[in-house]
Amino acid sequence: MSSKVPITVAHGDGIGPEIMDATLRIMDAAGAQLDIETIEVGEKVYKRGITSGIDDSAWDSLLRTRVFLKAPITTPQGGGYKSLNVTMRKTLDLFANVRPCLSYTPFVDSKHDKVDVVIVRENEEDLYAGIEHQQTQQVVQCLKLITRPGSEKIIRYAFEYARAYGRKKVTCFTKDNIMKQTDGLFHRVFDEIAAEYPDIENEHWIIDIGSALLANSPEQFDVIVTLNLYGDIISDIAAQITGSVGLGGSANVGEHCSMFEAIHGSAPTIAGQNLANPSGLLNGAIQMLRHINQHDVAEKIHNAWLTTIEDGIHTGDIYSEKSSKQKVGTREFADAVIERLGRSPRQLQAVSYESSDRGSILDRVKLKPQPRMTKALVGIDVFVDDADCSADQVAEQLNNNSTDALKLKLITNRGVKVWPQGYDSTFCTDHWRCRFVPRNADAELSRQDVVDLLGALNAGGVDFIKTEHLYTFDGTRAYSLAQGE
Ligand code: NAD
Repeated sequence: MSSKVPITVAHGDGIGPEIMDATLRIMDAAGAQLDIETIEVGEKVYKRGITSGIDDSAWDSLLRTRVFLKAPITTPQGGGYKSLNVTMRKTLDLFANVRPCLSYTPFVDSKHDKVDVVIVRENEEDLYAGIEHQQTQQVVQCLKLITRPGSEKIIRYAFEYARAYGRKKVTCFTKDNIMKQTDGLFHRVFDEIAAEYPDIENEHWIIDIGSALLANSPEQFDVIVTLNLYGDIISDIAAQITGSVGLGGSANVGEHCSMFEAIHGSAPTIAGQNLANPSGLLNGAIQMLRHINQHDVAEKIHNAWLTTIEDGIHTGDIYSEKSSKQKVGTREFADAVIERLGRSPRQLQAVSYESSDRGSILDRVKLKPQPRMTKALVGIDVFVDDADCSADQVAEQLNNNSTDALKLKLITNRGVKVWPQGYDSTFCTDHWRCRFVPRNADAELSRQDVVDLLGALNAGGVDFIKTEHLYTFDGTRAYSLAQGE
């Protein structure tokens, strides 16, 4: 047997300690060779005044062991507290969140008999950057950040994962009919990378119909790769339609470190009552054991767990008169899995982890160098706070205070053009996006032109609150057009 592998364990909040206890007992009984460092993260740490939910000694442990088994934690509601999950995923560069969702028909009632889908969720970008600002009395903003390297890494990971696990198809979900720059980039990168994998089928769905199809006919999907927020939502949907969100485990994978957890949260309403299903965390732990090359232990636990499910020994979340034989609590479920170690399911497909080849996936998602592009400044959007004026009055004020280099082209409010030629029916807030372009269409703009414009607007008493530069890259427009532009 291999020597002990150091891992970091956090028992979490809510149902976390119960399901972690069950998971650790099962791994111990199965002979997992683990040298466990326990850290405290989450609610108790937040309450000690550490707003990140994690202290320096915990980071030290994570960076030392580089393998983290984490029970769910509670993110306190309200201002000031950052989501620790998001902080950890970003700080440790855990860019890929891999969430397999399977149905266990006929032993667990589910909406669909044949679910076997892996959600590969981008884990670091998107609206989860958490960059939010109130810009005017009426308007708040959240920045959606999508990067080419981030998109490349996760999409290549999805294709490499598909290859390594013998999967046939990778589907991309975006909303690029609306968000042509951000989701558009993700979709473009998907098309580019898909072309490098002719052996794997690829397709794209707009997220809304894609999610509807996933809920209605999940058997048509194999591997799904998508942006952070969509991935968060659809992996709960995919897990729930297999019978319970309590079944799904997830791996958060990065080059420096990996974190394994359940898909679900800390379920505070059932905490401390021996009701929770430990299967989600156990399935995360099985992924961890494979990651640290204890394939034999992973296989033994997985097959014992499948046998327990097949024997109808179920926690309350998946218990039904029709499919279950015995309703058990968290502890008794763990005991039942331990009793079945060494056994394999008779009807459900037993797993075999001897010959897996995942270790090299990360080596194959290295970024390729990109040639430097030529960037040109072709305009500027100035955002203005004005609660008292109409669109025409805002335009008049801006026109009276512009510069020789720049002229006002249009104004939008909540993305809809309101000047020139707006409609009286359009509802306007105090937040105006005012697009300036060069007076001479051939003139090149400089940053000084921007500074001069803001200086002139400031002198004229305009309350500008933010600017966005309009660029082209290698001559291609790299900003969205306003409606009606
Ligand atoms: P949740 O996933 O905790 O619970 C959703 C529903 O599923 C509840 O009805 C719950 O009782 C049930 N459920 C969840 N896990 C179960 C299990 N193992 N066995 C049986 N039933 C189970 O989602 P929530 O209520 O929205 O969130 C609660 C807290 O968890 C919040 O503070 C949230 O921020 C946090 N959260 C943490 C993580 C994480 O640590 N990775 C993930 C999601 C939510």
